[in-house]
Amino acid sequence: MEYVHAYIEFPEGITKDELKLDIYDFLADQMFLLVSRQNCRIMLDYAENYDIQTSVPNVGYLYKFYAQQMTKAAPDKYCVIFSNLRNFKYINETGGTRTGDEVLIKFAHSLVSYVDDDECVCRMGGDNFVMLIKQKNLDKFIEKLECWEITGINSAPDKTFDITAWMGITRLTTDDVPIRVRIEQSSIACSFGKHQLKKRVVFYDEQLAGMLRRSREITALFHPAVTKHEFTPFFQPKVNMLTGELIGMEALCRWKHDGKYIFPDQFIPILDQQGLTHELDMAILNETCRAIKKWLDMGLNPPRVSFNISRKNLFIPHIEEIILDIIKSNNVSTDRLEIEITETAKEDEIDRLISFLATLKKNGLQIAIDDFGTGYSSLSLIHNINADIIKIDKSFISALDSNSKSSVLVKTIIQIADRLDMDVIAEGVETADEGKALIDMGCINAQGYYYSKPVDFDSITEIIKNNGFSPIL
Ligand code: C2E
Ligand code: CA
Ligand code: CA
Repeated sequence: MEYVHAYIEFPEGITKDELKLDIYDFLADQMFLLVSRQNCRIMLDYAENYDIQTSVPNVGYLYKFYAQQMTKAAPDKYCVIFSNLRNFKYINETGGTRTGDEVLIKFAHSLVSYVDDDECVCRMGGDNFVMLIKQKNLDKFIEKLECWEITGINSAPDKTFDITAWMGITRLTTDDVPIRVRIEQSSIACSFGKHQLKKRVVFYDEQLAGMLRRSREITALFHPAVTKHEFTPFFQPKVNMLTGELIGMEALCRWKHDGKYIFPDQFIPILDQQGLTHELDMAILNETCRAIKKWLDMGLNPPRVSFNISRKNLFIPHIEEIILDIIKSNNVSTDRLEIEITETAKEDEIDRLISFLATLKKNGLQIAIDDFGTGYSSLSLIHNINADIIKIDKSFISALDSNSKSSVLVKTIIQIADRLDMDVIAEGVETADEGKALIDMGCINAQGYYYSKPVDFDSITEIIKNNGFSPIL
C-alpha cells in the first residue's frame, strides 16, 4: 500500500466548504495519477513481452525464454521456425478484417497451446510467427501446419478455416550463433521458399546459403550484362501438326555469360523478385524486333513471334507505351508480334491485366494466355481479357499417357477455347504419340522438343526458309 503525504497551501479567504472540495479534487487527481502510473507500468511490462493484438508472446519474450532454456538444455535440441500464413490474405478478403482478426487470434492461441512447456511461440507482427521447437517434434509440427483447422469464430460460427503456412527452418547447433541471427536465417529461408522456390518448407542450410549467394551474384551481374547485350532470344517453332507448317515462334531468353549459356529458370525468378524482369523483357523484345526486321530484309516472311512478359511488369508505369515504342522504333508491324502472359487470380492484378492487354490488342498485337491451367484464372477472366490464344501447359501434355485426368482436362481446355473462339496450342510436345493424341482431341498446333528445342537466330532462319517440318504421320 502506498500513502500520499500532501502539503497544500490554500489562498486566504477560502471558505471551509470550498476547502473541502479542493482537497477532494486534489486527492482524486493524485489517485488517478497513481493508478495511471501503475497501469502504464503494467502495460509497458506487458508490451515488452506480449503481442498486444493476440496476447501471445512477442519476440522479446522469445529471447528471454531462449536464454533461460539454454541454462537447462543444449541448443542443438532445438530448431527455429519462421512461418508466414499462406492464405491469410484470402481469409481477410473473403471474410472481412473482423473475421480475419478473430481467426488470427484463435490461431495464435492454438499454436501456443499446441507446443510443449519447454518450447515457445511468438508473433512477429502481421501473419508471421516464430517458433522455438524441439527438433524431435519438428516433423509432427510441419505436418500439423500443413492444414490447421480453426473453428468457432464469433463472426463466422459455422465456418472452418484451414490455415497453412510457408516455413523457413533453421536447426540450431552448438555453435555460438545468436538467436536473433537464427530467426533472420529462418525468415530468409521462408521468404525464399515463398517467392522463388515455391516450396512450403525450406531449411536454411549450406545449399540455401549457396543459392542466396548466387542470387546476389545474378543481381549484381544483371545490369552490366544488359549493357553488354549478353541477353539474346532463342526461338522455338510453333507448328501445325497436320501439315508440319511453321505457324509461329516463341522468343525465349538466353544469357550468354563467360562463353556459356545460362537458362531462364536460373535467373528469371531472381530478377522477378528484385523487380528487374521488365528490363530483361524489354531487351528481349527489342532483340526479337531486330530479328524480325532482319528476316524481312532477307526477303523472308517469318510467322508471328511471341515474347514473354512477367506479370510484375504490369505495374511499371506506361509499360504499354514502352512496348509499343520498342516495336515502332524497330519499324516492325505490331501484327507480327504476340504477347504471352500467365493467368492471375490476384485482385489488384486482374483489372490492370485487362486494361494492359486491351491496349496492346487495340494496337494490333495478339494475346496468348501462357501455362494455361496452372494458375487460377476464372472463365470470366479469360473472357474479359479477350485473348486470342490459349497455351496448354506442358505439365498436362507430359502426363497425357499416364494420367487419364490429364486427358480430360486437356479435352476440356480445347472445348473452352473452341467455345470462346480462341486458338489453342499445346506446349511441351515431345513425342509423336502425344502429338497424335492431341490431334484426336482437336488440338492441331504444338510447340515442343518433338519439333525443335529453342534455337539461335541462324538455326531458326533455316527452319523459316524450309517453312517447317514434316506432318505427324
Ligand atoms: P515458358 O514461357 O512456358 O516457355 C516454355 C519453356 O518450355 C521453355 O523453357 C522451353 O524451352 C520449354 N520447352 C519447350 N518445349 C519443351 C518440351 O518439349 N519439353 C520440355 N521439357 N520443355 C520444353 P525455357 O526457355 O527454359 O524458359 C523457361 C521459362 O522462363 C519460360 O517458360 C518463361 O516463363 C520464362 N522466360 C523465358 N524467356 C523469358 C523472357 O524473355 N521473359 C520472361 N518474363 N520470361 C521468360
Ligand atoms: Ca511462354
Ligand atoms: Ca508456357
